[in-house]
Amino acid sequence: MQIIVLFGPPGAGKGTQSEFLVEQYGLVHLSTGDIFRSHIKGQTVLGTTAKSYMDQGKLVPDAVTIEMLADAVTQNTGAKGFIFDGFPRTEAQAIALDSLMATLGECVDAMLALEVPEAELKVRLLERGKTSGRPDDADPNVIQKRIDVYNAETAPVQKYYEAQGKFIGIPGVGSIQDITNRLRAAIDSL
Ligand code: AMP
Repeated sequence: MQIIVLFGPPGAGKGTQSEFLVEQYGLVHLSTGDIFRSHIKGQTVLGTTAKSYMDQGKLVPDAVTIEMLADAVTQNTGAKGFIFDGFPRTEAQAIALDSLMATLGECVDAMLALEVPEAELKVRLLERGKTSGRPDDADPNVIQKRIDVYNAETAPVQKYYEAQGKFIGIPGVGSIQDITNRLRAAIDSL
């Protein structure tokens, strides 16, 4: 299996780039944000729990997120590989992902991190908020909170993968195609 963690702050382009990579490499795309949003749409208990955190720009608790991700992986054990988008966002999640992959006899190949300056992220998220229908994109205070949470809780996960020699930084500013080409070059060199 090919197992890629696509990392980066909110608005870095993880969702957009995942679409191209899925098409190119035939990997299963698991976005914890998308899975939470589908639970909110379906009005499940998990959706109600997740929404209370997401609307404030906070992380959903690890136990809830890890269990949901493990279920999604278990439903796709025949996959050629995975692209994880928006997961792991804490060190506890990164450790849980390693354990989960170990149960499949697999391991994460690389963390590809899209690097985008904070000012650019805010512009992109506000722009996306005009059409995404996401309450967390529409409010500048929630956008700032998500960026602050990223810097405090998620950015340190980079060190976890650096320690395993799996971290690859990718400049995330430029045309969508240029960024896809950078990601492809990184994956093809693995
Ligand atoms: P995203 O679609 O990746 O921007 O995620 C939207 C929101 O879903 C985040 O702001 C969090 O509230 C929640 N979320 C998504 N993925 C995770 C995760 N791995 N851990 C905790 N919360 C998450």
